[in-house]
Amino acid sequence: MKLILIFSALIGASLCLETFVGHQVLRIKTKNEEEVKQLQLLESLEHLELDFWINPSAPARPVDVRVPAASVQSVKAFLESQGIGYSILIENLQDVLDKEKQDMAESAQRQRSSTFDFGAYHTLDDVKLDHLASEYSFVEKIQIGQSYEKRPLYVLKFSTGGSKRPAIWLDAGIHSREWVTQASALWIANKIASDYGTDQSITSLLDKMDLFLLPVTNPDGYVYTHTTNRMWRKTRSKIAGSICIGVDPNRNWDAGFGGPGASNNPCSESYHGPRANSEVEVKSVVDFIKNHGNFKAFLTLHSYSQLLMYPYGYKCTRPNDYAELESLGRAAASAIRSLYGTTFQVGTICRTIYQASGGSIDWSYDNGIKYSYAFELRDTGRYGFLLPANQIVPAATETWLGLKKIMEHVRDSKHLGSREPFLPAVFVAADTARTADAALVRSCGRDPHHRGGSVHPRGCALLPPTMETLLVFLALLGVTGTEQLFVGDQVLRVTARNEEHITLLRVLGEQEELQVDFWRHPNSPSHPVDLRVPFPSLRGVKKFLDSHNFSYSIMIEDVQELLDEEKESMRRSRRVKRSSRTFDFTSYHTLDEIYDWMDVLVEDHPSLVSKIAKEYGRDPSVTAILDSMDIFLEIVTNPDGFAFTHSSNRLWRKTRSINAGSRCVGVDPNRNWDAGFGGAGSSSNPCSEIYHGPHAHSEREVRAIVDFIRAHGNVKSVISIHSYSQMLLFPYGYRRAPTPDHQEMVRWPQNNELAKKAVSDLAAVFGTKYTYGSIANTICEYPSLIPQQIPQEWAPIWAPLPADMAGGTTIDWAYDNGVKYSFTLELRDSGRYGFLLPSSQIVPTATETWPALLDIMVHVLEHPY
Ligand SMILES: [Zn+2]
Repeated sequence: MKLILIFSALIGASLCLETFVGHQVLRIKTKNEEEVKQLQLLESLEHLELDFWINPSAPARPVDVRVPAASVQSVKAFLESQGIGYSILIENLQDVLDKEKQDMAESAQRQRSSTFDFGAYHTLDDVKLDHLASEYSFVEKIQIGQSYEKRPLYVLKFSTGGSKRPAIWLDAGIHSREWVTQASALWIANKIASDYGTDQSITSLLDKMDLFLLPVTNPDGYVYTHTTNRMWRKTRSKIAGSICIGVDPNRNWDAGFGGPGASNNPCSESYHGPRANSEVEVKSVVDFIKNHGNFKAFLTLHSYSQLLMYPYGYKCTRPNDYAELESLGRAAASAIRSLYGTTFQVGTICRTIYQASGGSIDWSYDNGIKYSYAFELRDTGRYGFLLPANQIVPAATETWLGLKKIMEHVRDSKHLGSREPFLPAVFVAADTARTADAALVRSCGRDPHHRGGSVHPRGCALLPPTMETLLVFLALLGVTGTEQLFVGDQVLRVTARNEEHITLLRVLGEQEELQVDFWRHPNSPSHPVDLRVPFPSLRGVKKFLDSHNFSYSIMIEDVQELLDEEKESMRRSRRVKRSSRTFDFTSYHTLDEIYDWMDVLVEDHPSLVSKIAKEYGRDPSVTAILDSMDIFLEIVTNPDGFAFTHSSNRLWRKTRSINAGSRCVGVDPNRNWDAGFGGAGSSSNPCSEIYHGPHAHSEREVRAIVDFIRAHGNVKSVISIHSYSQMLLFPYGYRRAPTPDHQEMVRWPQNNELAKKAVSDLAAVFGTKYTYGSIANTICEYPSLIPQQIPQEWAPIWAPLPADMAGGTTIDWAYDNGVKYSFTLELRDSGRYGFLLPSSQIVPTATETWPALLDIMVHVLEHPY
């Protein structure tokens, strides 16, 4: 019987199905815009009958194209003549199709005796939605319209009661050949139905919202992929005046209709149709959603490429909800990845693939449905549209985790406008067990809105009240994520023209709700101020700057993008490192990695524990220094903060100590020293980035150094390394008055020559320009001190201008405690990347800084005191 079935399937294939014998799928890698153009030219050559699975758009993005047997040779010759690289993804498409057919036949055979096989592809007739509706009282099959060829458009409605509750839309298969999407939708429908009442997340979702699922959005096309042409993508409508059939239903929505990324050629695979909503499949969904009027999310499944995209596609500007959509998208992608490690790339359609107009999620977003996402499921091209059936369930399972993450967020969104607010448990969590009990009862199905009273005893019995509360917390935590994102945050460089501008910037910084983060604080006019502005505050801050006639430029367009690159390069470096014992100095590292490396260094150089180890005996100055002095180098002075920048918030500056009576954590350890402690340029607000702490040396990290230096009793130089700004600084910061040692400090050029020499030796390496001077004066106004001009220039600014200074810094304390040669180095850069200096600049930065450090050390050696 089985044999006969397979046989007839093969006969079927040869009689009426279009075959793809000898068709190849090529992956083309373009190197530049020129090559992209060449491919677009190739795309326009209709006689080749090329079918682009992934269109040429940008050089970095691979292009997949199905090439008919007759065109294979000429296409390859063309690519080779242009020097464009390619590889063969699928050698003979028909082989893959035959395998797919055989799998289907075998599954059909198995199925007779058992339940629906979710791990197989099915014809439209075999897609049975009725059993779900009959088995589960809260599932209903409704028809929302008819296709062009008069097939019903069936939607599964999941509803536990109420009328027009806030709702979520999910569709699949708008492009008919993307078979894994229809198959996944069926698996997901079954999952939702069977999990209700047992799974906390689904239960609370359906207790609050309705879900509508359209598993086969383009049934005519789907049938056609089974009967005639497996590669069919469009609808099957006839186009007046053309021999070609069908419209791309995902270019047919009324959102930038007819714009870039859609074709007006009826023979094109991306033909947008005669007008918006011309396709009855599209129009039916549009009407249904508009009539309902309470959709909160619009989710659509496509394949392939492993992408999770949100608006816009028809234009390349960011949607208003960019930050939320991006971070929710990332949370969903990481939920997907958590299962099998499948990675989904997240972004706007335009940025992730290319500009494409008339797409469904642009329409839904522009019609007020904030959570609009398009998923491109597995794979990344190994099989493309022909994903083997044994990957259906894994693909559906992982995709479901992503969908669920989004649905949970929608459910918990405060704009949901639901009548019964969700999560009473959260707000009573710290309260008595009695109130938690009340919350439990409410979610147990005694709710009068439930159809049929207490229908879900299973879910209740399994969850004691505290457990449920905990789960709710976990769900919330999951949505928020543990790592802080900086999606859409920008770093602005603002130039203040006068004192009034400086005051205005400080006022801006005090508006806590804006959460502006000064990377370079406002000190004095003409000195640039860098500030990170969180995405939600951007508009307000820019308006403020414009209205006060500030000039500013955008230094970093999207902080998160830089962070991602940094992460990625760390990951790459970790992979490289595994194979060797050497340390990759060109990468950033976690605290553990650094400490491990220090151990290795100690092992290799047992008597000279420092970075300078290798130069001893080779470089005469290093040798001379080490022969008469010790060097102590603390690589990570603030390890808690450093670990936190890796685990949670890359832009953390302070320590991680708890501040009694404040929700804000941490002290600025470079305002915590007992030198003008609590004075100008530090803050008494624990939420400030320059909070000086409750008392001097309150921070253990500071205290430890203080104790060490005091116990040692013979430290001659303290050099404190910071970034960024490219400056070499010496005391004082907490006051303008000259240092107690001021005879030597102001006896130009002696002391200044050291700074000058250090800075010029540093510049000699790569030309990097540093400014130098005392903290109070350099950060304030005189960035390029010219020795001869100093005395008269200094006079007028000695009068204290408190806010320009910095109280409680390391080197002021060191200086006041007898360490004459106390310096601060502010390394690269001058603001292009700020704190997010690319790792490719680590070695250059270290290399150029080294001669400056050496200059200081040699000077110390030659000027004993
Ligand atoms: Zn698609």
